Amino acid sequence: MRSRSIRFRLTVWYALVLTGALALFGGLIWLSLRQRLVSELDEDLSDSASRFEAYLRRETVEFSGPQLRTEMEEFCQALPSSSRLELRSSNGFDFRYPVGARASLKQVRTLHRSFSIGNEAFTLDIATSANSINHTLDLLGILLVALIPVVIAIACLGGAWLSRRALRPVDEITAAARAISIDNLSQRLPVPPTGDELERLTEVWNTMLARLDSAVTMLSQFAADASHELRTPLAVIRTSAELALRRAREPESYRESLAEVVAESERMTQLVEDLLFLARSDSGTDGMPMVPLDLRDALGDAVTEVRDLATERHMAIGVSLPAEPVAVHGNRAALRRLFLALLDNALKYSPEGSEVKVSLNSSGSVAVEDSGIGIGPAELPSIFQRFFRADKARSNGGHGLGLSLAQTLARLHGASIDVTSAEGEGSVFWVRFPVPATHTGG
Ligand code: ADP
Repeated sequence: MRSRSIRFRLTVWYALVLTGALALFGGLIWLSLRQRLVSELDEDLSDSASRFEAYLRRETVEFSGPQLRTEMEEFCQALPSSSRLELRSSNGFDFRYPVGARASLKQVRTLHRSFSIGNEAFTLDIATSANSINHTLDLLGILLVALIPVVIAIACLGGAWLSRRALRPVDEITAAARAISIDNLSQRLPVPPTGDELERLTEVWNTMLARLDSAVTMLSQFAADASHELRTPLAVIRTSAELALRRAREPESYRESLAEVVAESERMTQLVEDLLFLARSDSGTDGMPMVPLDLRDALGDAVTEVRDLATERHMAIGVSLPAEPVAVHGNRAALRRLFLALLDNALKYSPEGSEVKVSLNSSGSVAVEDSGIGIGPAELPSIFQRFFRADKARSNGGHGLGLSLAQTLARLHGASIDVTSAEGEGSVFWVRFPVPATHTGG
């Protein structure tokens, strides 16, 4: 049954349920009719018995012996044909009608009654044939048995037709869905204007397609951007090497060219590493074991790492940490990378000699504050996008991946990241971690 179509299954179920219902209906009709006919027959019998008893009471006053028999036979002739009657008394009186017959009818209803007249006790048995009832019931039975399958057959044809009509949009949707592939993800399924489950299902499918479409667009954009970013350092490396090789040079000149090659290779390595990190963190926390750790340590790691850069730029890094550990569930290397992205930007986008402030409070909020060039309101919404760089930042050698990496890592830690910035005055980046509120200092 599993491989059959919905239509087939619907029709089969429909037929089964209908058969059950009709059989129940037919059975109930048959039974109640029988009950009704039998009770009518019984009423007739008891009516006859009462009339016979009354008649007997009247006649025994006037007649006795053979005369009484004749009178009783006369009475019995007025009974419905095929009736039997038997009367016995305590005095040995015995009367049968039809005379001499044994009450041996098949399919009979019988009624037994005792009464006494004077001090003589009588027992009366009346029987009548149930043949006509049985005929009626048989006829009804035959009608039901013959008609129910016909009704079911007609209903099934109607049901199959209806379900085909109802499911026709499914075929159309299936055909449309089959035609959609990665090349034409912008196509949508036809939405049947039926206002039913199918319409809702198709709409849901279409929103899913839209999400897939934008995800695929984003991915290919990402791949294009990544290749584009890699092309520049590769071109620089190649030009430096080619220039150096063009003619014989002083060793000093070779050294300069090689140093340029090394610098560009480092840039490339950094880019490739960032890309790898991003790709990996996109697929969740697999390969990034999350353990309980102290946020102060992760922040300390990142600060240590940028000390050299700060000294080079004659900048100070002011750090303020709480005295108590700030426990979070996280990955130390990933958190270091996150803070590094923020610190690196704060140093890069601030004038030499200025100060960068890093602070952590006991409720798990990290702030990285600089007094640098700031971010304009037009650019603020885009800075977390991959490969986004503000115009002013172009010359700074970044790839535009730092903040998007930071945001991905924050999300993996259940943290939120946001920024307040004023152009020309500086920026503050906030990362707020969920800290279990169990710890009370002391
Ligand atoms: P990049 O490698 O260019 O620094 P990011 O993703 O780290 O890439 O940052 C994206 C852009 O956001 C930067 O190009 C810069 O324009 C802006 N930005 C980030 N941090 C700061 C900051 N502290 N001050 C000013 N601008 C910033």
